[in-house]
This record gives sequence, C-alpha cells and structure tokens, in this order.
Amino acid sequence: MKKVALISLGCAKNLVDSEVMLGFLQQSGYTFVTDTQKADVVIVNTCGFIQPAKDEANETLANAVKTKKKGKIKKLIAVGCYVERNPYELQKAFPDVDVWMGITDFDKIVSAVEGIPYKSSSRCYLYDHRSPRFVSTPSAWAYVKISEGCSHNCSFCAIPLIKGPYRSRSIASIKTECLSLVSRGVKEINLISQDSTYYGRDAGLSNGLAELLKELIGIERLKWVRILYGYPGEISDPLLEIMQEEKICSYLDIPFQHADTKIIKAMKRGLDGHRALNLIEKIRKKLPDISLRTSLIVGFPGEGRREFAHLKSFVASAQFDHLGVFIYSPEEGTDCFSLGDPIHDSVKQERLEEIFQIQAEISLKNNSKYLGKTVDVLVEGHLNDQTNILLSRGRFQAPEVDGVVLINLDKSTPDCVNSIQKVEITDRDVYDLIGKIIQ
Ligand code: SF4
Repeated sequence: MKKVALISLGCAKNLVDSEVMLGFLQQSGYTFVTDTQKADVVIVNTCGFIQPAKDEANETLANAVKTKKKGKIKKLIAVGCYVERNPYELQKAFPDVDVWMGITDFDKIVSAVEGIPYKSSSRCYLYDHRSPRFVSTPSAWAYVKISEGCSHNCSFCAIPLIKGPYRSRSIASIKTECLSLVSRGVKEINLISQDSTYYGRDAGLSNGLAELLKELIGIERLKWVRILYGYPGEISDPLLEIMQEEKICSYLDIPFQHADTKIIKAMKRGLDGHRALNLIEKIRKKLPDISLRTSLIVGFPGEGRREFAHLKSFVASAQFDHLGVFIYSPEEGTDCFSLGDPIHDSVKQERLEEIFQIQAEISLKNNSKYLGKTVDVLVEGHLNDQTNILLSRGRFQAPEVDGVVLINLDKSTPDCVNSIQKVEITDRDVYDLIGKIIQ
C-alpha cells in the first residue's frame, strides 16, 4: 500500500496542508501518483467554505468511492475543512470512506493510512519549518503559510468556525522555511493566511507583517516576496513603507467584498466603498505601480438594485487590476445565516456577470499599459508539451489566480525556466500578456 494519490481542493492554504501531508508520507517511503486508478490510498483534502466548494468535495468523494468499489483503491481517506465542519453528514453520505480526519491532525497522516491509533489534537494543525513538505507548485515559486485561523467575524464567513482564532507562526520559523525553499531554487515566496495583514497581532506585534518582511528581504537569493489575503482595515503605514523595497512585489490582494454602506455593515467588514476608495488612493500614492486584486460577493441579503449599483460604481472607480466575484452562499452557524437567502440564484448570476463585464474592460485597459514596455517575469515552465510557449508571470500577477505572460519560444531563446527574464510586451488580452525575451 505504498502508492498515494492526494486530491487537494479549495485554497492555497489547503494546498500547503496537503504538501505537508505528502511530506510526512514521503518520509515514510510512500510514493505519489496523480491517477487515483493507480493508487493504493486516496486522500481527499476537502474545502467546506461555501456551497460550491462543498458540492465539489461531494463529487470528488463520490468519484473516489466509485473507484474504490471497482477494487482499485485499498484505502480512502477524507480530511480537511468540510470534514471538520460536517463530520456526521459526510460519514452518513459516504460510508465507504475508511478514515475521516478534520483539520487538527495532518501530522498524523501516516498513522491514519497505516491504521495506527493516534491521539487527536484539539486545535487546528499549523505546520512550521521542521515539518516535512513536498512542494507541489512549479519549482520557481512556493506558498508559505504564516498563520492559521482568523479573529475577524465577518458575518458570512465560516472560517473562524472551522479553523478557530488567529495563530501566527514565529518570524524565525517562517524565515528558516524560506531559507530552505530558496536553497532548493525557489525565487518567489507567496505569503498566505486567512489575513496576512493581521500577522503577529496574536503574539503582541502591532506591525508583525512589516517586521516579517524586513527579515525575509534579507534572504540573498530570494527574488520576490508577495503578500496574499490582506484585510482592508489592516493596511498599515509601516507595511506600505516596507513595500517600497525592491524584493517585495508591488502587489496587494485586499478582498473588499462589497461597497454599499448598509451591506458592509451587515457583513461586519468595516470599510464601505467611500473609505475603500480613500484607502486605494492612499496605497497608489505610496506605491504608484501597485497591482491591486480584490474579491467581491454579490447577492448578499438586502442587496437591492441601489446597493448593487453602489457596488458597480465602486468597481468602475477603483480600477482594480485583478478581481474575483463570488455568489453569496448562506453558511450555517455564521452571524448572517438567519437573514436567509432572499435573492434568487438567477439574479445573483446576472450580477456576477455584470461585475465581470465591467472588470473585463478595466483589465484590458490596464493590460494595455504594458504594451511596448519591458517587464521582469518569472519563467515557470512550458505552457504544455504541445506548444513552444513559455508560461511566466510579472510581479503584478499572482500565481493561479491572475493572468500570465506568455512567451513564444524561438531557436534563440535560452533555456530560462525557473529564472527571471526581461520581456518586451508585444500583445495583450483581458487577462494575459504576450511578450518576447530581451536577449
Ligand atoms: S477575514 Fe473575514 S472573510 Fe476572511 S477568513 Fe476571516 S472571517 Fe473569513
């Protein structure tokens, strides 16, 4: 039973937990396959954040059970946020799953696979620099999770219910991990958590993220550091100050979620559209070439035409570089669950598409500013085996969620995978840019 296939669903934080589980398994001599049909053991790391994520987990588990019933899989293990949140419903729905594990015992995955009893931990597992980790992202970059849990109480969000209050890793542990990743060739570190801008607060640090960044930019061969998952009310002056450092990508991911004052109040998120635009103006004054990403929710209870109009005009005014939109999903146990789900799905879908339409024009205009310009890109690898195209990203593009810079290879192009190259941008579309390497 030595071949394992792990399916990691959900966010980048879940992916890091999956990589740590793979690290422990690798240490115990397990090998990995991507095809569940060829695996002895299948592990599904679930996401239980919102309904669409739960639907995806249900579908993945149902498929794995089918494969198991064909006698292909010897052991099926389900772990993660969805299991933590709905253990009994899932056990009833999927009796063929052999082992259930929430979010507290990822370091005991080998015992789970081998059926060895273990003492479960009482709180959400948070790895550190000593944890083995099988990094699954392209070798040019890696995620580093700097904390777990969240101490905000956004009324729509189930994460604090699943993961508990905010817990930071130590600066020393994060730095040691980054040194190890860089020694293995990583050029870009993407800092992730539920709220990276809150980092260190639970340990009494008022500007923990700025202090952490000061340590990380001292790592010689580390080229880029990127901050993902900010919080509107936590963008501090010391953070904007240190972000002027060369190594820190001029990039911020700040989910504003909405803009209408009444909706923001009901969401318990703090900054309405007017104050959010002031913050964006302040950030752009301090960091003129900043690339801003945000996430928004449409269809929240109480979002009538007027409230939605406020959201649309916010998107038009803010001119984000990258934007994601989610449809409101009522989550049991959250503060706003009692508000029900009064807005019809078709209306929510229409609103999502309307926001994307507004943003598509903005993204195309923003991408046009790179035409004829030379930018630094991190070359991740070949787009695929069939084409002669390299996939890369600029400092203004986060992995997996933003567009990319595609580079047409020609005979003179040096082998430059996993390196930073200067590229002249020759074309663009709504999401991606196209360029050629400057020799
Ligand atoms: S900041 Fe709000 S939305 Fe984000 S994880 Fe915390 S509670 Fe959820």
